[in-house]
This record gives sequence, C-alpha cells and structure tokens, in this order.
Amino acid sequence: MIKENVKKLLCEIPEGVSLVAAAKARTPSEVLQAIEGGVEIIGENYVQEAQRAHAIVGHRAKWHFIGHLQTNKVKKAVQIFDMIETVDTLKIASEIDTHCARIGKIMPVLIEVNSGNEESKSGVGPERAIELVKEVAGLSNIKVMGLMTIAPYFDDPEKSRRYFSSTRRISEEIKASKIQNVQMRYLSMGMSDSWRVAVEEGSNMVRIGTAIFGTRDYER
Ligand SMILES: *Cc1c(COP(=O)(O)O)cnc(C)c1O
Repeated sequence: MIKENVKKLLCEIPEGVSLVAAAKARTPSEVLQAIEGGVEIIGENYVQEAQRAHAIVGHRAKWHFIGHLQTNKVKKAVQIFDMIETVDTLKIASEIDTHCARIGKIMPVLIEVNSGNEESKSGVGPERAIELVKEVAGLSNIKVMGLMTIAPYFDDPEKSRRYFSSTRRISEEIKASKIQNVQMRYLSMGMSDSWRVAVEEGSNMVRIGTAIFGTRDYER
C-alpha cells in the first residue's frame, strides 16, 4: 500500500517539486517501503525517533528535520539531518551553527514562517521573517535555502491558499533583497490535504504523511 501510494503521488506531483515523506510515528519498515516506492527525502519531527530510523535506513534517503527543535537536541540533529526546515529564532540558528562548526558541516536550513500568526504554532511572524533571515545569514556554518510554513488547517484547503501565497511573497521579497549567503531555492509548503493548492501558489517542496502512510491514530 505505502509503495503504491508513493508511486501514485509521484505521478501527480509536478516536475521540480520535491516530495518529503513526513514519517512521524511510523516504523523504520514503513519508511523503507516509502523509499522502495521512490521517496528520496524523509521528514522527521522528533530527533530520537529519527535516530532510530536513521540507524536502520541510513543513507538510502536524505533526512529533513520538520519538527520543533529543542536546544538540547541540536547536537544530535546536526549529525543526522541534511536539512533543518524549522529555524525560527536566531538562538536556535546559533546553536546549530556552533555544533556544525565542531563537526565541519554547513547545514542547509529553511526559515519557518508562522504564516497564520497562530499562537499554537512555532515559526517567525511574517513581518519579522526578513529580519531573521538577515541575522541567520551572518552565521558561517548555516546556509539559508528558503522558507517553510505550516498553514492554518481548514477542512477546505482553498482557505489555506492565502497563507501559501503570502509566504511565497515573503520569499520573493527576500530573494529581491539579495542577502549574502542566502539562496531562496526552496519553498516548503503543503501537506496531504493541501499540497495541490500549495504547489499552485509556488511551493516546490511538499511534506506528505497521511497520503503515503495512512491515517495516524492520534491528532497532529
Ligand atoms: C505531520 C506533518 C506533515 C504531514 O502531514 P499530513 O497531513 O499527514 O500529510 C507535514 N509537515 C509537518 C511539519 C508535519 O508535522
């Protein structure tokens, strides 16, 4: 099933849009099935869970961190992940920078924008995003590669559209600012129910869990 789900998705997702399989609460065996189906990037929300999966799956996929990163998990995170999609403060960016410097790594990161200004969500406020990008750009072991957002959830994904388009506008504004050490290459937006709308609004990286692995038995 997982393999077939991936194949179907890969047929539907347009050229140039990367698929990140959001693997929270899935077993390493489920992750491997997704990879057999053609998944090349695994998205993980929890560092410990990622360590377990990474030990088994290893370099058969790239690993993106898509959860809320805690300072005390950064040391482990920088060893496993190929990209951290959820940088939302200078503090966490500095922590990543410090640990990357120690192991001689330059970490590609996305800045997470709280596009709906939701209190329950992390991410930098849309009005402060450029400022944060400029600050993070000064760190030499981090490379800002774009923006990520988790838009507010609606039963009707059309209602998320304006949050995707506003995030795209911010990314264009940052691109136009030509900040050194910043490359606005990725716009990570859209999940199982909303990825089509997100892609229409300029997303080129979709993070999909349920449509690959089936429903989780807990609320996100
Ligand atoms: C779980 C999760 C997804 C995928 O959500 P689905 O609705 O299961 O596709 C995408 N992004 C993040 C940050 C997630 O935590």
